[in-house]
This record gives sequence, C-alpha cells and structure tokens, in this order.
Amino acid sequence: MESSFSLNRLLRDNIKKLVPYSSARDEFKGQASVLLDANENAFGSPYPKNYNRYPDPLQYRLKEKLCHIKGVPVNRMFLGNGSDEAIDILFRAFCEPGRDNVILLPPTYGMYEVSANINNVAYKNVSLTADYQLDLDVIAEAIDAYTKIIFICSPNNPSGNNIRRQDIETILVNFDGLVVVDEAYINYSKQQSFTRDLVEFPNLVVLQTLSKAWGLAALRLGMAFASEEIIEVFNKIKPPYNINQATQDIVLDALERVEQVNEWIKQVVVEREKLSVSLKELPQIIHITPSDANFILVRLEKPRALYDFLVAKGIIVRDRSKITLCEGCLRLTIGTPEDNIALLESIREFYTFN
Ligand SMILES: *Cc1c(COP(=O)(O)O)cnc(C)c1O
Repeated sequence: MESSFSLNRLLRDNIKKLVPYSSARDEFKGQASVLLDANENAFGSPYPKNYNRYPDPLQYRLKEKLCHIKGVPVNRMFLGNGSDEAIDILFRAFCEPGRDNVILLPPTYGMYEVSANINNVAYKNVSLTADYQLDLDVIAEAIDAYTKIIFICSPNNPSGNNIRRQDIETILVNFDGLVVVDEAYINYSKQQSFTRDLVEFPNLVVLQTLSKAWGLAALRLGMAFASEEIIEVFNKIKPPYNINQATQDIVLDALERVEQVNEWIKQVVVEREKLSVSLKELPQIIHITPSDANFILVRLEKPRALYDFLVAKGIIVRDRSKITLCEGCLRLTIGTPEDNIALLESIREFYTFN
C-alpha cells in the first residue's frame, strides 16, 4: 500500500490551534540603538562578555553555518537543546496522550521510551532481528490507525551497526506517519546520511547531534532535519530561546574546525578496528557486532564480573548484559589510544585469573 502522507492528519488538534508565544525578538527584528522592549538589564552582564540580551530565537547565523556543513537549507533545520529536545517535541506535537502510539525497535536508544512515558504516549516494541536489523513484517503488523511515529536509530545504539537503507526506505514509502532516523553516530558510518533524502520523503525526520563526533556534548546542541512544514511545527512549539547565546557563540567558533573533527573520526575508526582485532584474540570474547559507530557491543564471558573488575580499576563501560538481544554484552566506547590500551590490558588481566 502506497502511503498518503498528510501532516495535518498527524498533528494534534491543540497544536493545530496553538498561537505560539511572540517574543520581543519576534516582534522587532531590525537594527536599533536603544532596546527597551524585553525587560533586559541594559547595563550589561557581571561577566567579561555580555549576555544581557536574549539570543536569536531561530539561531539564524548558526543554522547558516551548519547549512554549509550539512548541505541542508536553513528552513529544513531545527536546533534543539540536545536531540532529546527534538524527540520530546515530536511526541508533544504529534501524539495525543492516552490515544496515539509510536513504534520502538529495541534494543535501541532509551530516550524514545522515556519521552513516550513522560508524554503518556503508548509505545509498541518490535524487536530487531538477531543481527539487529528491521523485522519489516512484524513492524507492518504493529502499525495501527493511531501509530504516529516509528523511531529508527542508525547506526543503532547499543549495537553499533547500520540499519539497512533499503529497509528504512520501505518503511518511509509504506508508512503514512513520521519516520524518525536518529543519526547520532552518522559521522562514524560508511552509510550516507538520510539528510539527502528529505525532498523525496515528506514523512522523514533525521536527528543528528553535536554531542558525539563533534565533541560538544556539554553544550547541548541537537539537530532535526525535515520538510519545511514539519520544521515550522517544531519552531511553533519549542521554548522561544531554547539555544542559549553561550552555546551559539561557542558552536559558531567550533564549527570552524571541521578538519580536527574529521581527524578524530578517522582515529576512532582505526582504534575501533584495532581494539576489535585484539579482543577477538581472547577466547572469552564470544562475538563483536560490526560497528559503524564510536563504540562496540561485545558479547563475552562473565560480563558482570568483568564490568565490576573494570570499575574497580577506574574504567567505566556500559553493562548491557540484561537487555533483550544484548544478553552477555558490554558496550565499549572507543577512547583515546591510551584509554583503549588500558581497557584491553585490564580485560586481559581479568581473563587471566577468571
Ligand atoms: C547520544 C545519543 C543522542 C544524543 O542526544 P543529545 O541530546 O543530542 O546529546 C541521540 N540519539 C542517540 C541514539 C544517542 O546515542
């Protein structure tokens, strides 16, 4: 069945009717020398740099710069206080609490479920297959008249692999709700970003973040890319000044150093393969999922005891061993070469005595 996508059909009634907050910066946008419209402190800030003025609500300069890096026009781009803000806005805009539902594909990123629960929106879990791909038939069966969003994480956290592009396209074509492709780890992937496919798929929302490869997790800047009409919905709902000025300033500056980021990405990929090869030499390592991210999911013997041993050594990894399809697995983030050597040596030491 070919989908018939209508954004208006998906939107909650209260959001359709919503009159958004109109800030002082919305109502006057020109140049002026005396600004007395926003109840700011006109004297300045108790800090070497002034932050006394409200920031640009739509972060135009920042988006213009990101536009060149991402190849997506400004009007198809939303910036959030982390991608988590974009995830929350999707629920608030499209999912009627107590009525609508979304589809999650575990094992996957935990925030989709938390955000669903916060918004009192039901979720249907459709497990990935044993090799962490989409189970298209079961997904099709799970969709009902109230299914608004399907969340696909690719590369997937915590397994690290890409979801097959063809399968994502099948869902995009056949499902008439929104398909969110979370590309938090796309910089490490061989797969091409879905941001190139926004024109073809009106129901596509791509999430990216500066928290991972860009090394700016503390600044909280997430991106959503979608059709102009979906982005308008995001902008209508978001808190007026959701990206603070310090973040906008620092990110503008950091975006000048793409070469540094690309260098780190290459290094992480090299380190990821090195660590995987070394781990595979140990008989206690059962399986390593091929990763297109900056972490590897490793099935191994005595996962919890190894986890505790590593903690005692001051090395913290993620215990995923109790999660469905991740039984017996630890998720290891790729660190600096020194971090990875320390990790590998501690794992070797553990298995020498255990
Ligand atoms: C880390 C991560 C994010 C990032 O969230 P931010 O709020 O932007 O820091 C988003 N999605 C996935 C799958 C992640 O692993």
